[in-house]
Order: sequence, then C-alpha cells, then structure tokens
Amino acid sequence: MYLVSVDVNKCTGCEECVNVCPNSVFQMTDGKSDPYQGSECVFCESCLGVCPSAAITITEM
Ligand code: SF4
Ligand code: SF4
Repeated sequence: MYLVSVDVNKCTGCEECVNVCPNSVFQMTDGKSDPYQGSECVFCESCLGVCPSAAITITEM
C-alpha cells in the first residue's frame, strides 16, 4: 500500500495528475490536487512523470 501526498505549495493546479492516474487517486480541491483516494495507488509512477513541479510524493507504507 502506498501513501500519496501533494505539496500544495508546489502544485500549480495543472490537473495532469488527475488526467493521467489510471486509478483516479486525485481530484482537484480549491485549485490544487488532492490525492483523496491514495489507497488506490499502484505506484505506476505516471503522475510523478507528468507533474511539472515535483509536487507529488509517494511512499510505501
Ligand atoms: S503512481 Fe500511478 S496509480 Fe499512483 S497516484 Fe500516481 S498515477 Fe496514480
Ligand atoms: S501534476 Fe503536479 S502540479 Fe499538476 S495538479 Fe498534479 S500535483 Fe499539481
């Protein structure tokens, strides 16, 4: 299981992570990415590849 977090100070609100995640981990909240379904993460690393500001951190629990 993975813990997905977004640094809202780095997030630009581009929504790329929302669009790329195959398991709908992210939603937008107040213009920032919110990894509200982090428990669905399969560590495909797609979001890490598209985020322009390295705002996403994923750690194994
Ligand atoms: S690593 Fe893959 S499954 Fe996990 S949050 Fe990022 S895009 Fe979604
Ligand atoms: S890809 Fe990065 S900058 Fe874009 S919305 Fe997601 S966390 Fe924010």
